[in-house]
Amino acid sequence: MEIARPSATPEEAPAARSIDPRTGERLQRIIDQTYARFKDVDDGAVATYIPELGKANPKDFGICLVTVDGQVFTAGDWEKEFTIQSMCKPFAFQMALERLGTEKVLRHVGVEPSGEAFNSIEFDPKSGRPFNPMVNAGAIAVASLLKQRPVQAGVDAFLRQMGRAAGRELRIDESVLASETGTGNRNRAIAYMLLNSGVIDEEVLESLHQYFAQCSMLVNCRDLAMMAATMANIGNQPRTGETVFDFQHIKHVLAVMFSCGLYDYAGNWAFEVGLPAKSGVSGGIFAVVNRQLGIGVYSPKLDGQGNSVRGILACKELANRFGLHAFEFSNVGSSFMQWVL
Ligand code: GLN
Repeated sequence: MEIARPSATPEEAPAARSIDPRTGERLQRIIDQTYARFKDVDDGAVATYIPELGKANPKDFGICLVTVDGQVFTAGDWEKEFTIQSMCKPFAFQMALERLGTEKVLRHVGVEPSGEAFNSIEFDPKSGRPFNPMVNAGAIAVASLLKQRPVQAGVDAFLRQMGRAAGRELRIDESVLASETGTGNRNRAIAYMLLNSGVIDEEVLESLHQYFAQCSMLVNCRDLAMMAATMANIGNQPRTGETVFDFQHIKHVLAVMFSCGLYDYAGNWAFEVGLPAKSGVSGGIFAVVNRQLGIGVYSPKLDGQGNSVRGILACKELANRFGLHAFEFSNVGSSFMQWVL
């Protein structure tokens, strides 16, 4: 009996369908309607535990969708910049897998949903590892693997790869970095516990700097959607054509995003939206529709679990209207666009 190889090469994957202008107009209309439908929702509160984040304009609301053939659809404040916060975590995980390999990375962090808040101080009782790379503990463990000497070199390497995914140069918001460094005692506590259990090395402050700097990188909705579309497009940036991420690890990153990306809301998210996604306390959410598109949304008012209120509503709406749920019957390969028409 012939056994299929576990991973196809990008060359073997079927080509993504490009979108004709009529479908494009329809897409834009649905995005505009989604924006209009939720722009006046006023629930939630802007995060203030990192004081600098409290300065965000609660009214901001942006949406961007990028297809794997590089078409861009936007609505609202899609150009507004905000810090990526926890949305850096899947990309950092991807980079660690690329540089060190799966086996080594999994010695430092698990892939099990914790069902806990993003800042929970809880570790896998059997292994002592953080549950997964999407909670702060796991992300600090991953940051410790990505840090370099001098520390700025590790931060620059992260910025460079993320910039290639976004298709433009990205930079750190130094005020948010200082604000988070100044107040991040809970993350420092987590890091020292990780040192205590041998998950990270003694360069604790360097690991924390790598983590805080990653979280403080500025993006807009278009950047997020481009990064997501790069993941969706087997690691190739849809507009520049550059290979940014090693496709062999993307499925693992998406799987962890699917099961852990929205912390203690992850189960509901998988049920209702059904897409690998990641949220951040700045109010952004990005979602990946494998082989089809990337979605980036931003609105800084958060619910009790630290997820953007309007962001969740917008993603639910887009997933419903386009039939994007991973287990949607209409979502066969990359043919959902046909269904929409
Ligand atoms: N930098 C934030 C923190 O460590 C990230 C949290 C988040 O976006 N959920 O608290």
